[in-house]
Amino acid sequence: MKIGVLALQGDFAEHIAVLKRLGVETAEVRLPEHLNGLDGLIIPGGESTTIGKLATAYHLMEPLKEFGQRHAIWGTCAGAIFLSKDIGRDQPLLGLMDIKVERNAFGRQLDSFEADLDIPEIKKATNTKDDYHAVFIRAPIIESVQEDVRILASAPDGRIVAAQQGHLLATAFHPELTKDTRFHEYFLSLAD
Ligand code: GLN
Repeated sequence: MKIGVLALQGDFAEHIAVLKRLGVETAEVRLPEHLNGLDGLIIPGGESTTIGKLATAYHLMEPLKEFGQRHAIWGTCAGAIFLSKDIGRDQPLLGLMDIKVERNAFGRQLDSFEADLDIPEIKKATNTKDDYHAVFIRAPIIESVQEDVRILASAPDGRIVAAQQGHLLATAFHPELTKDTRFHEYFLSLAD
């Protein structure tokens, strides 16, 4: 299996490091042809406006939309924003997932925080019992989802922070910044 990580901006190196630790072949994606032969793609955290601008400049918007029709894509934080259909403002979006997202939704005093989340789907898929320690950095929330989208996790205040629609996955937090590899393992099962 070969998984690409969109490497235009943000913390793509951290995702690549986790994938390597799991023994997966990786590729940095900067141009449309880098998508050839990939089984799945991760869009990292960073700044969604910058990722959108660079994806437009490198003619990646259409190839990424097409890739997502047939292959697994996982967006973390800025990547989740970029995957969504609606964020209530104008910036380039792939529009692949039927979710409405609000950027920087946790306000200033909670700009960054960590929380233990009960994620039954992850526990079941990896045959583990521990809660998932999630790191949020100027994180978005998933305001609402359409009916074929499954809610995977909610923050302690009840707001949605992870969702799945078929082979598409969105998390408001950063699994690439902790040692827990269960979310990456879960994504690999979607890409398989
Ligand atoms: N606040 C960023 C945005 O709106 C996302 C932050 C992140 O990816 N950690 O794109």
